[in-house]
Formats: sequence, structure tokens, C-alpha cells
Amino acid sequence: MQWFRDRCAEAGLPCTHQRQVLYRALLEAKDHPGPEMLYERVKRDIPSVSLGTVYRNIKTFLDNGLIGEVSLHHGPLRLEANNTPHHHLVCRVCRKMFDLPAEQVESIHLREALPKGFHLERFVVEAHGLCAGCAAPKRTGRTH
Ligand SMILES: [Zn+2]
Ligand SMILES: [Zn+2]
Repeated sequence: MQWFRDRCAEAGLPCTHQRQVLYRALLEAKDHPGPEMLYERVKRDIPSVSLGTVYRNIKTFLDNGLIGEVSLHHGPLRLEANNTPHHHLVCRVCRKMFDLPAEQVESIHLREALPKGFHLERFVVEAHGLCAGCAAPKRTGRTH
């Protein structure tokens, strides 16, 4: 939270109670939630908050680099507060995302492979598969 307060001060953003609750909700979330999911969580603490306000604050956070966007290509917006370098494991069935620390991924020599003139800003690996819940054999409900 102190990191968040410092960044807000740096960016000249008022560190309101509402913003702190929103950021904390994202910090505690391990599931890379979308704006609607965050709104549901923030509402428990601030019943008067509106979805529009949550969206506006998320945009402000993103614009100031306070949070990250982990949306899958052009899919719905998914967010996270984890700002340490990491990659993602994505379940192709339920779309759950799991963090994969960057040091667990073998470094890939990209420099030579970059098309001429391409300016690399961020490097993320997205591994797709099945999470434990989705890979488990489905129960048929049959008794034996
Ligand atoms: Zn799954
Ligand atoms: Zn993540």
C-alpha cells in the first residue's frame, strides 16, 4: 500500500479512500479480475461506489502505471497489481490466469529475431493449458 501511496503522490493523484480500497482489492486478488469483478468487491466496502467510478479510476491507474493490464489479446480487460516481472499460465477452458515468476521461464534470445525497427517494450510469455480443476476427469454423477 505504501508503494501505491508513493506512486499516487508522484503522479499528483489524490490518494482517496475509494482509490485505496480499489487498489487493495486488486492487490489481494489472485485471479486477474476484470473491472466488473473488482466493482463487486469494492462495493462491499463502499456501497455507494458506482461502476462508472470504478472504470474511471482503473483507467487513471492504468494511465499512471499503477496497475497492469493482462488482457488476452483483444479479450475483455483483466487487471493485476503484481508489478514484478512475470508471465502467465492461462487455462483455455475457464480462462483463469496464474502467475509464473519471470525467473522460472528460460530467457529467450529475442534481439536477433526482432523485425528491423521493432522497438520492444515488454516481453510476456503466455502459456495455455488446462488448470487442475478443468483437467480433472468430469464426474458423471453415476454411483457404483
Ligand atoms: Zn480451468
Ligand atoms: Zn499476473
